[in-house]
Amino acid sequence: MLKRQTKDFINIDPLQTGGKLTEEAKEALLEWGDGYSICDFCEGRLDEIKNPPVYDFVHKELPEFLGCDIARITTGAREAMFVVMNALAKKDGWIVMDGNAHYSSYVSAERAKLSIAEVPNTGYPEYLIKPEKFEEVLEETKRKGEIVLALITFPDGNYGNLPDVKKISAICRAHGIPLLVNGAYAVGRMPVKLKEIGADFIVGSGHKSMASTGPIGVLGMNREWEEVVLKRSKKYKNKEIEFLGCTARGASLITLMASFPTVKKRVERWDEEVKKARYFSSRMEEMGIIQLGEKPHNHDLMFFEAKILYEISKKAKDGRFFLYREFKKRRIHGIKAGLTKHFKLSTYGLKEEEVEYVLQAFKEIIEAYAKI
Ligand SMILES: *Cc1c(COP(=O)(O)O)cnc(C)c1O
Repeated sequence: MLKRQTKDFINIDPLQTGGKLTEEAKEALLEWGDGYSICDFCEGRLDEIKNPPVYDFVHKELPEFLGCDIARITTGAREAMFVVMNALAKKDGWIVMDGNAHYSSYVSAERAKLSIAEVPNTGYPEYLIKPEKFEEVLEETKRKGEIVLALITFPDGNYGNLPDVKKISAICRAHGIPLLVNGAYAVGRMPVKLKEIGADFIVGSGHKSMASTGPIGVLGMNREWEEVVLKRSKKYKNKEIEFLGCTARGASLITLMASFPTVKKRVERWDEEVKKARYFSSRMEEMGIIQLGEKPHNHDLMFFEAKILYEISKKAKDGRFFLYREFKKRRIHGIKAGLTKHFKLSTYGLKEEEVEYVLQAFKEIIEAYAKI
């Protein structure tokens, strides 16, 4: 038996807080764990399988949830971004993306052979992406070549900043450039609808924010992109080329579907998550640990600067690993081993007493080492 050391720990790793399985998904995982189990009654297209009800999920529930015309399943947020980039790519084409974009956005663009222009953030301490700056870079890049796509990360995975995506969308529209919203940290956590934003594509990550095993992602788009993105094979008439025919064909999709009713409900409680994050941030600041990024913060992912912990690490027996050890001792997982001065964490889904327990841990650690 392969045992997971951190299984019952309080988890504050931003990567993991939104991907924890619901009880329904755990049951479904056992039921559907066999390879290709989802294909029992497939007639040639993953999204058209009626038993289990993939068809209704992909063609009715998911588009409604994402606020878009058409949805597809992918094997992750990055694969969804790559699908769009590859479908829209042209020779010597450019993509403009925010400077807070995830590495996988950048790598996807490289794989799609696009030239990349980045919109710089405002730097320390907030690292904001400003719509005016976005427009400036669009205009500069337009002079270099054709921009086939713009991408905004909403929120980014470092600071948890939520840029003014509606404004950026309007700017892109005015310039005639399609916009992809990377909502890997939004879809499944907070309410977000493509139509309300006014963009062309939206991407989500099942294992990051939709209580799924993964690897799995979702892609939503406006109908005008159907012919470009959903182009079919010449020989295999029902197979969509960019998706290589079928994407997540198994248990990952089943867990996404099994958790979906819970996910739909939990986004309605987003206000509580924001309130919790702000409370956590304010208590951290009382201890001299400063939250960087947008303030007041609007997301559960928070980035902290802890000079006080860094100073301790210079004297502690385990050096910079002392913090990890202290948290492990308290059965809290999620701050990367070796980090002290800067780290990110997430309060998503934590109970009130768990929030207090984590805060208490910081307090105890600081007090204990103040003496050395
Ligand atoms: C985690 C993350 C991704 C990658 O998601 P996958 O579903 O694992 O591909 C992409 N973008 C952002 C902003 C992320 O935080």
